[in-house]
Amino acid sequence: MSKNAIIIGGGHNGLACAAYLAKSGHKVTVLEASEHLGGLGATREFAPGFRASVAHTLPQLDRKLVADLDLEKHGFALAVDDLPTIALGLNGEHITITASGLQGACDEDTAAYPEYQRLLRRFAGAIKPFNSKRPPRIESGSKGDLLTLGQFGWNLRTLGKSDMREMMRMIALPARDLVDEFFASPLLKGALSWDANVGSRLAPRSPNNAMLALLLRMSGDLSVGLPLPRGGVGGLTEALAAAARAMGVEFRTSARVEQVLIEEGRATGVRLADGELIAADVVVSNADPKTSFIDLLGARHLDVQFTHRINRLRTGGMVAKLHLALDALPEFTGLANPIGRLLLTRDMDAIENAFDAAKYGSFAPELPMEVIIPSLADDSLAPAGKHVLSAQVQYAPYDLKGGWDARRDEFLEAALNSLAAYAPNIRDCISSVELLTPADLEQQFNARGGHWHHAEYAIDNWWVQRPTYGASQYQSPVTGFYLCGAGSHPGGGIMGLAGANAARAVMEDN
Ligand SMILES: Cc1cc2nc3c(=O)[nH]c(=O)nc-3n(C[C@H](O)[C@H](O)[C@H](O)COP(=O)(O)OP(=O)(O)OC[C@H]3O[C@@H](n4cnc5c(N)ncnc54)[C@H](O)[C@@H]3O)c2cc1C
Repeated sequence: MSKNAIIIGGGHNGLACAAYLAKSGHKVTVLEASEHLGGLGATREFAPGFRASVAHTLPQLDRKLVADLDLEKHGFALAVDDLPTIALGLNGEHITITASGLQGACDEDTAAYPEYQRLLRRFAGAIKPFNSKRPPRIESGSKGDLLTLGQFGWNLRTLGKSDMREMMRMIALPARDLVDEFFASPLLKGALSWDANVGSRLAPRSPNNAMLALLLRMSGDLSVGLPLPRGGVGGLTEALAAAARAMGVEFRTSARVEQVLIEEGRATGVRLADGELIAADVVVSNADPKTSFIDLLGARHLDVQFTHRINRLRTGGMVAKLHLALDALPEFTGLANPIGRLLLTRDMDAIENAFDAAKYGSFAPELPMEVIIPSLADDSLAPAGKHVLSAQVQYAPYDLKGGWDARRDEFLEAALNSLAAYAPNIRDCISSVELLTPADLEQQFNARGGHWHHAEYAIDNWWVQRPTYGASQYQSPVTGFYLCGAGSHPGGGIMGLAGANAARAVMEDN
């Protein structure tokens, strides 16, 4: 039966959820607090003529979402299909990593890489189908839930005895132990450990969670390598919005939801910050779990233990985003053409040292980062002859001692110094700077703690426990109130799967 659904938040997951619900005949309104749609995946002008999005590449997106919602017809395209990853050496000797192997590495590492890739791809492949399914209820006894659990076991079993044992062993390894087993080069190891740790409160020596994050990051299939969207990630979110609009979804921006309305234990609509009341049969929140449950719903509607679990979610972000408007292309030592994902991750100790400082509320003088210059492949992002540099900078603790207002310039200096170690003329090229700290990301993008995954992505908040038990099937403890954002299964990163799965959950339950 057709329902009136409200989606709180127009991030890419909210947009995907809206589109799938509208496609199946529901009447959907998206209420977005910001002036623009897209959340952390929006492309915005940060200096006159220069545009960038907080998320910048699409390793996790798969073809199904693009095909289901006909996103190419609505403007989605890739600027580069397979962006190479280049581990920059301080001495100008670099290692290039592509889907087909390594260049510039020693013979031993070049020979070891295919087996490393084969194993990880196989493990990611075993888990991937469950990213697009509603997690099962462990004790429900329903046929669907039992089937999903059975399929999970079966997928692990069909890895074969040897790979299955390896997966069970490797899943709990710190990234450092994993790459130490395969490789010799400190530069290569630093670069490979980045994908296991970026976006989380993790560094190479952190136990237990890195493999999960790495496998999640390897779950996309839009290309064999690293896809760079045209128009920034906004190219995707604008296509999602256009597809949803074509299916009849209504959008309201600058419409902050302040309260989810509850009558007799079920969600009946929302109240906006300006006091307007909007009724609905179903309310779906793309906001992070703490905002959704504590601020918008209110602890009084929830069981005390459930509220404690939500309050305990780790939501302090560790990644800052740096956007530079460049009058000229910087020269990276020993790199003729900086087209690629440049990893300034000298070795695992340098990454670990930066994390150590952040763990105790500070930051290191040398900050590891991932840099792309998307304007090299996409002229829609900068004026002719000029460029945009987009960098994810770790580790920038949300709860910085002394506060971000007081220490923003100091952090920016550390980031620019870290960049200048590889591109000595970088400062001469810059015409404008945007630094988004986790505190800025929280304030400007309404993502609690500025966290990449809205809440830490870790074994205690994974799959049937994401964001916590009692809400891991998108349905919350309050009838008619659902979650659809990165805080839900399968987690953060641009995938649209939390949105798509939540839409399916709404359809199944109503
Ligand atoms: C610095 C950084 C870099 C990243 N880089 C990448 C990358 O390169 N590739 C990648 O795949 N992922 C990346 N990520 C992760 C990715 O951006 C996020 O996981 C993803 O955008 C989450 O999408 P979402 O739709 O669930 O939530 P969001 O994008 O956070 O959207 C939620 C929306 O809800 C709105 N909202 C919140 N509260 C309310 C309210 N009360 N009323 C109305 N609206 C509300 C917000 O304004 C927002 O628009 C990065 C994250 C960060 C922080």
